[in-house]
Amino acid sequence: MLKDCIFCKIVRNEIPSYTVYEDDIVKAFLDISQGTPGHTLVIPKKHIANIFEYDEELASEVFARIPKIARAVKASNPDIKGMNILNNNGQVAYQSVFHSHFHLVPRYTSNDDFKMIFKDNSNKYSPDQLKEIQESIEQHMGD
Ligand code: AMP
Ligand code: ZN
Repeated sequence: MLKDCIFCKIVRNEIPSYTVYEDDIVKAFLDISQGTPGHTLVIPKKHIANIFEYDEELASEVFARIPKIARAVKASNPDIKGMNILNNNGQVAYQSVFHSHFHLVPRYTSNDDFKMIFKDNSNKYSPDQLKEIQESIEQHMGD
């Protein structure tokens, strides 16, 4: 627990939240921005900054709870047709609160208030370049 972390304060109920689920491992509460209606955050109660800090046990425990919470969010509104689940890691990746969290963003239409852009750069890579990238990632799997 970090004294000055806003999400640790939410875990400790020192600041209010619209909590939809909690147990000993996670807390799920409405994202105050409500990017789309029902936008919910799932956080581990233990303070860790980002995905790079999870051990396998905590990852299993947190991820195991996400489908149940996602189903409850979806069931809350018949207009929810799909959901994006996002996890930002590092400022460069748009993380603004440095206590790990997963965004559950309900989707109503492809044209609602959530946007995500992946450029297709596939034409810029040769098979050799892809192989080099593959190997450079693969060699760190045991780290
Ligand atoms: P990220 O940019 O991925 O770090 O997301 C942080 C999210 O936390 C943003 O979407 C904020 O709207 C949300 N947020 C910040 N403070 C609070 C709060 N007190 N209660 C609920 N959500 C919050
Ligand atoms: Zn924290």
